Amino acid sequence: MKVKCPTCDKDVVWTAKSAYRPFCSERCKLIDLGDWAAENHRIPDKAPIDSALSEEYLAELEQEFITQDNEFFKH
Ligand SMILES: [Zn+2]
Repeated sequence: MKVKCPTCDKDVVWTAKSAYRPFCSERCKLIDLGDWAAENHRIPDKAPIDSALSEEYLAELEQEFITQDNEFFKH
């Protein structure tokens, strides 16, 4: 049985002896695991901008409310 190395797309013969299957080599296995770990630690693609914007927006709103409150108390 042959599989394609998920990292480099090379054909890998899947046997009990292929220690790094489905990867062709330890290097590819580590690269893939590294990618996977990096993926896991990364905030999902769409979230960063949206949440950064909305957080900024919320902070701005909050600031406005604080300002309004202060003015309200002055009156
Ligand atoms: Zn490979």
